[in-house]
Amino acid sequence: MNWVKRSSRPPRRWQYAVVSPTTVAEHRQRVAELVGLMPVLQLPLDECLGLVLAADVIAPVSLPPFDNSAMDGYAVRAADLAGDLPVRLPVADDIPAGRVELNALEPGTVHRIMTGAPVPPGADAVVQVEWTDGGTETVTINRAVAAGANIRTAGDDVEKGDAVLVAGTVLRPSTLGLASALGHPELPVRRRPRVLVLSTGSELVEPGQPLQPGQIYESNGMMLASAVRDAGGIAVRLRFVPDDVEEFHRALAPYLGSVDVIVTSGGVSAGAYEVVKDALASHDVRFTKVAMQPGGPQGAGTYEGLPVLTLPGNPVSAQVSFEVFVRPALLASMGHAQAERPTARATVSSPLTSPAGKTQFRRGLYDPSSGQVVTPVGGPGSHLLSALALSNCLIEVPEDVTELAAGDEVTIRHLQ
Ligand code: AMP
Ligand code: MG
Repeated sequence: MNWVKRSSRPPRRWQYAVVSPTTVAEHRQRVAELVGLMPVLQLPLDECLGLVLAADVIAPVSLPPFDNSAMDGYAVRAADLAGDLPVRLPVADDIPAGRVELNALEPGTVHRIMTGAPVPPGADAVVQVEWTDGGTETVTINRAVAAGANIRTAGDDVEKGDAVLVAGTVLRPSTLGLASALGHPELPVRRRPRVLVLSTGSELVEPGQPLQPGQIYESNGMMLASAVRDAGGIAVRLRFVPDDVEEFHRALAPYLGSVDVIVTSGGVSAGAYEVVKDALASHDVRFTKVAMQPGGPQGAGTYEGLPVLTLPGNPVSAQVSFEVFVRPALLASMGHAQAERPTARATVSSPLTSPAGKTQFRRGLYDPSSGQVVTPVGGPGSHLLSALALSNCLIEVPEDVTELAAGDEVTIRHLQ
């Protein structure tokens, strides 16, 4: 940015205005509505981890699909072992796992059988190899078994036609294993939102480059893109643009056809060079003050038909805003019923103050082994990034609470 040139222009006006604040809940609702629901598509199982099943999936086969052996041993008729033991019987066949054609078991004979191999017609039990001499021509069996022993019956686990995977299920390794066992190569899921993350500020420098006086390394882009991925979205990280409206529009243009949501940081507060506010003023974007600290200045609306969420630039404000507004909206857009971080009640280890009429989100360190105590980390300043990095929860101080004494109860929101 050429600041000499800029100073030759008439000075810009401040952009503060007295507006009645929006509540956290109102803004959260607005953001969730703007982001909406991602479309449902069939995705290969390999791409489904962490996604939400969008429709019930009916079992097209039973599990197991056929009666099979639970042991390596011998398929027998239990009645053939009912007399004196040990008993010596001929081994009439050998059945490895994967055998598709079977000979029936004749009375007075056995078939050697492996775990997972189909039980032949006529057999009603399997004797494990440890109870025999392991013979291959004939076998000596030392112990009797009851009918049904060591046989995994067809449908034991899942009956064909059952809705075993129901809409809303979050696809975990075990559910993906089940889908695979049922023979599904793909599943209907809501796809991951593609989120364009754009930072703004003429003071920003890319890590790895030399820093001039007055400049800082850019951090929101990395943080917000990681937070998008952590929420299950696909982050498209568009480094950053200076405080220049033309450059802002130019930077976004190539991505408009390929992303679902735009998240910006910076340029929305009360300064004279608020690039996001300036650039989006003529679009359907509402800028507001949300009754929270940090994260008051927020904007949400649409830009060229895409939802755009404009977060404040202070790193802690940006991250807290993402946690409170963007993350739940992204999770909901993928169909997660549980879009909120888990919360708990805890007692604060030291006193806190909080502004009247604002929900305060303080950074905290919660140690469950400490008897539900949460320790505030750092002060309320929204530039205190190291305190945020050291914390594992947000301490929520309600709007009407201005002071907390050590030992007072609060709600905490786990961040991990
Ligand atoms: P703004 O909201 O643009 O007025 O920025 C508020 C504060 O956050 C300023 O101190 C900025 O330098 C800082 N800031 C804004 N964007 C970023 C960013 N992407 N990385 C690090 N700091 C930022
Ligand atoms: Mg800025």
